[in-house]
Amino acid sequence: MNLKSIFTKRTVLIALVVFIVVGAGVLYFNRPADGGANSAAEANGQIWTCSMHHQVCIPKPGKCPICSVPLVPISKPGTTNDTTVGKTASPKIKSYRSTMMPGEVSQTPRKDSMGMDMVPVYESEGSMLELSDHARAMASVETVPVQRRKMSREIRVVGKVQYNETALANITTRVEGYVERLFVDYTGIEVKPGDHLVEIYSPDLLVAQQELLIALESQRGSALVESAKRKLLLWGLTQEQVDDLVRDKKVSDRITLFSPIRGTVTEKMVVRKAMVKPGEMLYRLANLDSVWVYLDIYESELAWVQYGQMVETKSEALPGQSFSGRVWFISPVLNEETRTVKVLLNINNTERKLKPGMYVSAVIRAELLADGKPAPSGVEGQWSCPMHPLVVLPQAGECPVCKMTLVQIPGTPASAKPEAEQLVLAVPVTAVLDSGVRKLVYVEKTPGQFAAVEIVVGPRTDDSYPVLSGLNEGDKVVTRGNFLLDSQFQIRGLPSLFYKEGQAAAAGHQHGGSQPSGH
Ligand SMILES: [Zn+2]
Repeated sequence: MNLKSIFTKRTVLIALVVFIVVGAGVLYFNRPADGGANSAAEANGQIWTCSMHHQVCIPKPGKCPICSVPLVPISKPGTTNDTTVGKTASPKIKSYRSTMMPGEVSQTPRKDSMGMDMVPVYESEGSMLELSDHARAMASVETVPVQRRKMSREIRVVGKVQYNETALANITTRVEGYVERLFVDYTGIEVKPGDHLVEIYSPDLLVAQQELLIALESQRGSALVESAKRKLLLWGLTQEQVDDLVRDKKVSDRITLFSPIRGTVTEKMVVRKAMVKPGEMLYRLANLDSVWVYLDIYESELAWVQYGQMVETKSEALPGQSFSGRVWFISPVLNEETRTVKVLLNINNTERKLKPGMYVSAVIRAELLADGKPAPSGVEGQWSCPMHPLVVLPQAGECPVCKMTLVQIPGTPASAKPEAEQLVLAVPVTAVLDSGVRKLVYVEKTPGQFAAVEIVVGPRTDDSYPVLSGLNEGDKVVTRGNFLLDSQFQIRGLPSLFYKEGQAAAAGHQHGGSQPSGH
């Protein structure tokens, strides 16, 4: 039952019970002398009340059943000193209600099920409730003005450091042979492009080189020479080495493999004197100048993660330090087991502090716009390569990696918008009562006068909701005592959290959890 869910917290239940017992007492039985009667004026005949016990409403003169003081006639609405319930400018009666049984209403004056006279409900009562200073203090009502401010939503996730996949290289041999010399002989060593890694003795290579020399000598055609040259190039000799061979006619049965990139040896499979076969992997290299961090984002939070967002990460291994990187890839596929989507950050790691395999905690901070939607990430209007989303340049041109023409990232950055649009009307979470179907705040319209206001809010941030409709800047919302206030609205038959139209509309419906009509 979604309506019941709000009451599942024990404290709320206790608060409600305490209110109904004590709050009702405060407002009905224990009012200060300046508080008025609960609009116990009548429509046709005169009604009499006790000056000490305003709950006494009797349609004839007599003595108070409580204190035996002679009753006094109640003056007509509008001329009364009664100020408990809203301004009674119009005396038109809407219905009658029981003072003791909240659900009992009637269109005609009669006695309620407890035998007490019902009191009129005026149309002008609207949805306002006035609290005396005493009642207000007893209910601990506090208000704060609604303000415009910058709001952002924080998403906290755990991520894992991984290699930058675009900066990996595998070193494999293309010839069969034996490892003669191992220049790079341990994992973790840093190499530059062109650094020698390993020297392989290969009888096959010797044969292939001799074939080229024979083809050159026989003069039987350049086709044979070309195919012999191509074979050597495919086996891993450089063009320079082939040219040297043609010029010097000096064959060698050794081939040296060089590093194609700047990077760190992350795996070494080769050992001295081992026999290697074509296609066998000897080393794995990775450039650690930048690393990737994978974040798992839940479906419900995905709307707040955008391309180009800056994300801050921290590692327990590096206390007090933080590393930030941009979101540059959001997986198009959801992992059905974890119900998460992979999001990739690219983080500068020239100091080698982040190590692949490490866990980091990440905070994604998405600014909110006045409409409750996430603000643009800030890269809008800049230029990026469709194949290399890491490339973000301030002007058009071609991709430095693949030479493709850059495309402009759509949208306008939030910083380009006027300051006013970046400020969001924020209502404290404590002010909002949530029935599961609608959200309500109590607003102090004028000092001591409260009204229920239904509001529409955006996604919750830490302590506030962005207000999409229902409130204006400066409105004073009740942040404390609002549950008691709501109970009081409900008892009075005024529109409240669970009774949109007031109790009159809900009369006749079952209580105890059934959903009121009108939703
Ligand atoms: Zn590119």
